[in-house]
Amino acid sequence: MRIVIASSEAIPFSKTGGLADVASSLSKALAKHGHDVTLVTPYYRQILAKANGKVPPLNPLDQTIRVPIGNRMVEGKLVLSTLPGSTVRVVLIDQPQYFDRTSLYGNGEGDYADNCERFAFFSRAVFEAATVLRLEPDILHANDWQTGLIPALLKAEYRWRGGFERTASVFTIHNMAFQGQFWHWDMLLTGLDWKYFNWHQMEFFGKLNLLKTGLSFADKITTVSPTYAREIQTPEFGYGLNGLLYSRRDDLVGILNGIDTEVWNPATDPLLPQRYNHATVSQGKPVCKLAVQNKYGLPDRPEVPLFGMISRMTSQKGLDLILDCMRQLTSLDLQMTFLGTGDPGYEHALKRLAAEFPTKVGVTIGYDEELSHLIEAGADIFLMPSQFEPCGLNQMYSLAYGTVPIVRAVGGLADSVVDASEVTLSQGTANGFSFYEYSSPVFFRQVCRAMGTYLDRKTWLQLIQTGMERDWSWNRSAYEYERAYEQACIHRHAVVN
Ligand code: ADP
Repeated sequence: MRIVIASSEAIPFSKTGGLADVASSLSKALAKHGHDVTLVTPYYRQILAKANGKVPPLNPLDQTIRVPIGNRMVEGKLVLSTLPGSTVRVVLIDQPQYFDRTSLYGNGEGDYADNCERFAFFSRAVFEAATVLRLEPDILHANDWQTGLIPALLKAEYRWRGGFERTASVFTIHNMAFQGQFWHWDMLLTGLDWKYFNWHQMEFFGKLNLLKTGLSFADKITTVSPTYAREIQTPEFGYGLNGLLYSRRDDLVGILNGIDTEVWNPATDPLLPQRYNHATVSQGKPVCKLAVQNKYGLPDRPEVPLFGMISRMTSQKGLDLILDCMRQLTSLDLQMTFLGTGDPGYEHALKRLAAEFPTKVGVTIGYDEELSHLIEAGADIFLMPSQFEPCGLNQMYSLAYGTVPIVRAVGGLADSVVDASEVTLSQGTANGFSFYEYSSPVFFRQVCRAMGTYLDRKTWLQLIQTGMERDWSWNRSAYEYERAYEQACIHRHAVVN
């Protein structure tokens, strides 16, 4: 198949969250399966400048694309590259006024005021790039609100244009919490007819909603775990779009993300002081654990359970649960390390705790790829008590690195972590600890359970090895995306004919 994947972020070019990992890893896995894959993403000049040689060669094309935005024509350029270690063609859309900024979506004062215009431009630029490069895709795969216009533009406009006659669209929800809502006059920027501004398609309580647009027009909808696919059809997780998702349930499928095992593999990870696999984890992990303890200035105590958390510091990630019971946690014989950045309230609270309990709590505020690998390897237990979690990657990195996760049983966490009960332990499927009720006493009980099990070395090793032995790679997910693409093509032809 000829596949074009459009994403507002993609490693190693840009990243604010899991979407960047997914866009690139899925592209690579599909290319490995023999598909012709092109990944289209914005050219964030200032972000790329900071990437310090980690980015593959970039080749600017001479050709200019012209994109209608409202009543203006905005010009852009194409820059070509390749995803390292793959045949995936990368097209970066260069439009300095929109994308040469300090961040991807906003600054300290909030989202950029022209985000609708920026991503309406990007969405149309994907079609223009595909035309210039004669990609003639079978599948246009859009992701999240930033590219939510793509399925609508295909249905309303581009499918009548050469090169898109046979194209079907797939739209993936990575997080329902971000919907791309703008005032209704931004409809003019999309270039689409006002007739689509209705409550079935693009309008949501008087506003233009780009996530809804993608959901309404796509031939097939996917989201990043089977449990999240069910959850978003309910009022609790659907953010007002649950009705629409329920009405499209036959076209909606949940596919658990994989992890990039070239980057996240403890047997080959160059960022670890000692590499290990499931057979040598008992030798390798203590060396990594010591390195984490040294890094955070915590006492070198091999016997004490070391907890790790790597996360955006937002309420989504369950930091309230952890902070609420921090007094009880620090009364136990444990060590905790945190890496993350986000809400200043959480950052300050954690920093205060680190100052108060320097032998028990270590905190790094910031984004640090290297340290994240070290924590994944060195920690014994990983914390991820999210309020909601479409898929989550860190729990899968933890499982692959022999770090036993404690998670809330929602979304992809429920699909990847099997709670250690008598039954699952005897079946050999248990790989972590999970709970459902979002309350700090319940969370605290899980910590105590995990610490109790940690003392039983045989059971602990069983949990570690069950997690490490499962295939978390993209290979499995790529097969499921292929099926979704085939269904999109069938659905599209059904609609057109
Ligand atoms: P989300 O996309 O909601 O932020 P995920 O678990 O799906 O959560 O993906 C987060 C990704 O970002 C993971 O690859 C994680 O390791 C990484 N990450 C998050 N915060 C940091 C940080 N402070 N330093 C390094 N990596 C981080």
